[in-house]
Amino acid sequence: MTQNAFNVLMISPEAVPFAKTGGLADVAGALPIALKKLGLDVRLVMPLYNMVRQSGMELTKVASDLTLPFDFFTLTFDVYQAEVDGLTCYFLERDEFFDRRQLYGTPKGDYFDNLERFVFLAKAILPLCQKLEFAPDIIHCHDWQSALIPVYLREKWGQEESFAKTATVFTIHNLAYQGLFPKEKFHLLDLPAALFGINGLEFYDQINFLKGGILWADAVTTVSRQYSREIQTKEFGCGLEGVLQTRADVLTGIVNGVDYNIWNPSTDPLLPATFNPDDLKGKVKNKQTLMAEYGLDPALKDAPLLGMVSRLADQKGFDLLAAILPKLMAENLTLVILGTGDKKYHDLLTAAAAQYPGRLGVKIAFDNRIAHLIEAGADMFLMPSAYEPCGLNQIYSLKYGTIPVARATGGLVDTITPVDPKKKTGTGFLFTDYTAEAFLACIQEACQAYQNKPLWRQIMKNAMSQDFSWDASAKAYVDLYHQTLARRTS
Ligand code: ADP
Repeated sequence: MTQNAFNVLMISPEAVPFAKTGGLADVAGALPIALKKLGLDVRLVMPLYNMVRQSGMELTKVASDLTLPFDFFTLTFDVYQAEVDGLTCYFLERDEFFDRRQLYGTPKGDYFDNLERFVFLAKAILPLCQKLEFAPDIIHCHDWQSALIPVYLREKWGQEESFAKTATVFTIHNLAYQGLFPKEKFHLLDLPAALFGINGLEFYDQINFLKGGILWADAVTTVSRQYSREIQTKEFGCGLEGVLQTRADVLTGIVNGVDYNIWNPSTDPLLPATFNPDDLKGKVKNKQTLMAEYGLDPALKDAPLLGMVSRLADQKGFDLLAAILPKLMAENLTLVILGTGDKKYHDLLTAAAAQYPGRLGVKIAFDNRIAHLIEAGADMFLMPSAYEPCGLNQIYSLKYGTIPVARATGGLVDTITPVDPKKKTGTGFLFTDYTAEAFLACIQEACQAYQNKPLWRQIMKNAMSQDFSWDASAKAYVDLYHQTLARRTS
């Protein structure tokens, strides 16, 4: 037996390469594989969405007609299995819930029955473990969609043999998404009525799934240290800061890793030219291609090219960008933006691009190739986020020598070291106040540094040598599992 010979059941509402809406899918796809490499027996569970069927991965049915009680009914479901890099993934098939085009809703809003869909996911874990005869040491849940599982484990499944020694870990990837539902549906959870209260699942007269994960899990984590501190404050707590403070003793932050097999400028097949810290010629070629792709004025080739790849959401600081745009466009620089999201930002950015032809390029699209090209071809990467649990793009940017200009919040603080021009240290530029003035001043400071070529080259080298591969983060999770199990059995 190795020291890490224990079982982990990981439950996530999305994971690459099966179904993705955001950064959680990258984490849920990569973390279990990194944990397996450290000797753990990890299995991943998620719903069998339509997107999973479309993923092209081979699915094999491994169990039929499992049942769970739901309201006045007994629901049956089948279980499918797929293997990816040696990781076993289970998919729960109940088509009326999951065989839909999107994961959680359409652009018109969330699916009306999300409570039922994710109560189903939570309740299915008991029959699944019984059928597979899998007694997990750790159940690791992600985000509100799987947050009821720690509640069921303590409140309903305590006597089950499968869970006699099980400890639960709950990871918050974004506190703003909590799974809020009308209290009239509480009976569908099949939990004692007393649990709908201020010290339980109630949140301002609604049911709050995320709160269940925070209160009932044996350990709670977030995706950066800084964010784990911030969410205990009123500014970032989304109304749950008090609840999080009560769990401060078991709340930690573990920064996400990234997959350098996919995000690596020296091997990236999506780029017109590869490059590395010792040979940056390819970066110039990528800049040319990127400028042409966005129709930027080639006469501005020596001016710094700023890039953004982002969901177009309030969280990401587009209000600050809109406020500084006239002044920014008066500077000697160019800017390219790739994103999709809120219609108000689609309209705003499209209008701005028309106003500043040759200087500002905007593409309203979700396009992986262009995302890679921006990471590789831009000189700086803008992330003026109001909050940022971890953020992946700044980590990719570092590897591509594209210097982040970012707000000092959440994972941006944990992953970017401020530049000191005198010592030629640091990897990026950070501003603290969430104001247009602070953002503009930070960009201007970066542009000034850009003019000093030896300094800029050193900053690029510093950035490109950073290592945020999964190995370190996976080890931190293993340590946490050990501590949590020890606490549970002590
Ligand atoms: P969040 O999860 O809050 O959206 P992250 O920075 O953690 O932000 O992760 C976003 C991921 O989605 C990154 O891998 C980024 O490259 C990708 N992404 C976001 N918008 C787009 C887009 N329009 N086209 C391609 N990739 C995108």
